[in-house]
Amino acid sequence: MPEEPDAERRETVVLSVVIPMYNEEEVLPALVSRLRPVLDGLGAAHEVVAVDDGSTDRTAELLAAFRLGWPELRVVALRRNSGHQAALTAGLDRAVGSFVVSLDADLQDPPEKIPEMLALARGEGLDIVYGVRVDRSSDTGFKRWTAGVYYRLMRRLAGPSVTAQAGDFRLLSRAAVDALKALPDQQRVYRLLVPWLGFPSGQVTYERAPRVAGRTKYPLGRMIRLAVDSVTGFSAAPLRIATWLGAGAFVVCLGLLVYTLTAFALGRTVPGWTSLFTGIVFIGAVQLICVGLLGEYVGRIYTAVQNRPTYFVRHDTAAPGAPGAGDAGEGAGSEARVPAPRA
Ligand code: UDP
Ligand code: MG
Repeated sequence: MPEEPDAERRETVVLSVVIPMYNEEEVLPALVSRLRPVLDGLGAAHEVVAVDDGSTDRTAELLAAFRLGWPELRVVALRRNSGHQAALTAGLDRAVGSFVVSLDADLQDPPEKIPEMLALARGEGLDIVYGVRVDRSSDTGFKRWTAGVYYRLMRRLAGPSVTAQAGDFRLLSRAAVDALKALPDQQRVYRLLVPWLGFPSGQVTYERAPRVAGRTKYPLGRMIRLAVDSVTGFSAAPLRIATWLGAGAFVVCLGLLVYTLTAFALGRTVPGWTSLFTGIVFIGAVQLICVGLLGEYVGRIYTAVQNRPTYFVRHDTAAPGAPGAGDAGEGAGSEARVPAPRA
């Protein structure tokens, strides 16, 4: 388990801003220059938890440099690239604020909305405030289309509480963060888990801006992975597809059987090659689909049983004994997030 952050900090820090970042050297300066004035203007104690998700560019170096002049900046460096959701988990696990905002590094989600989120949560006693994108015209047509399909599917599977067009820009209260930390889930998809918790929630809307610099860290492969994790994490319905495909294949085979017998009775058995071949290919395909679906769930059971941590922290500038960063070498002060053991 991650060590408890010291109680004193926990009591004083009002807001933590968690920012997962992977190879974001190009956007960091812009991020700092837009985020800092917003947070300074809050008039409340805050920390910025930059989770360096195993960046291989100059992200770590830049963060260390910014830290010199910005004491609220805290760097949690992961040992290797673990993915956006795992980096987010690392940040949420370590953030100490009474409220925690998660933000992408690329400024697609405006930091200027943070005070509005905080005011809404405090004013109305909400535990969750979603940032909802009202305008995605800056995203590519393909991204908008895939996102549309994704959110429609998720609302069907995980329930209508999933806010359409809410990504990972949101505010969580301490109670919501603690509830998330207590979940045993391994491949977490926060945009589904958070609504599922059922806390009172509100939303602020914003227009999605284009990435300020650099390239997306979510290529098609990762988008598919997120979709598969989302579906299999919330529904066993795909397993039922196997049953339906099997039933369909059975009916088709009955038809083929009738056809074969008729052909046999009429003495025309040789020209049956096409139907036979089609039948074999069809049944083969159905079986492979079914095995694949089973595999997805068996895979999840396997990872759950292994109970491996989803990330390793190399160093945390706020951890005892590691102030100033950099002086905690590889392995020193490192720890893993081990999900709570289950009975
Ligand atoms: N990210 C990360 N680890 C990864 C991939 C992405 O921490 O393995 C971060 C990335 O630096 C950014 C956020 O996750 O802050 C969202 O990624 P991106 O903006 O590339 O995704 P998109 O907006 O294109 O969906
Ligand atoms: Mg982005």
